[in-house]
Amino acid sequence: MYFCIRDDDTSFFTSPEDLERSYGKIKSVGPVSLAIIPFCLAGSSKAVPEKFRNRWTIHPLDQNRSLVSYLRLEIAAGRFEAMLHGYYHETRSLKPEFVSGDDLMSKVRDGRKYLEDVLETRIAVFVPPHNRIGRRGLSAIESADRTSVERQVCEGAGDLGPPTLGRYGRDSNDGLTTAGLEFLGCSI
Ligand SMILES: [Zn+2]
Repeated sequence: MYFCIRDDDTSFFTSPEDLERSYGKIKSVGPVSLAIIPFCLAGSSKAVPEKFRNRWTIHPLDQNRSLVSYLRLEIAAGRFEAMLHGYYHETRSLKPEFVSGDDLMSKVRDGRKYLEDVLETRIAVFVPPHNRIGRRGLSAIESADRTSVERQVCEGAGDLGPPTLGRYGRDSNDGLTTAGLEFLGCSI
């Protein structure tokens, strides 16, 4: 039986101690998949420390040197896998970044390249912020070197191949539901 552990919102604000406390033992058995924000925008998210919240400042991952050093070692050792989790993660409009944001194609391409360079690894999976993605978001991902969306292999799910619009249901917010993405995420 295969399963995946997905943890969202690793960012500039995350400490190695946070990750060790949560996954110290588990990651020795197999890699934990971290959805990492390249340039975290300090908006209203509870994942942002209170003193930074709602400042709307941008915090690149590489400015947290201890976290980057830790992640490089742990990823190289196969204890974590890095996934791209949006670009800023939040928008000032408070709508999901990959439903209503701008320049999504370059955000996927540049965010992926940035994480690959900073963490010295390959990024093969995109996790949309807030588990929501719109048509333009899906097109951006398909165009950016066909980065796969949640392609971890889970029992019964198999490999569905590159994302296509037809695989996802519509919702009432001019976006697409992420039910298919969450299913493939198979988190516990
Ligand atoms: Zn998130």
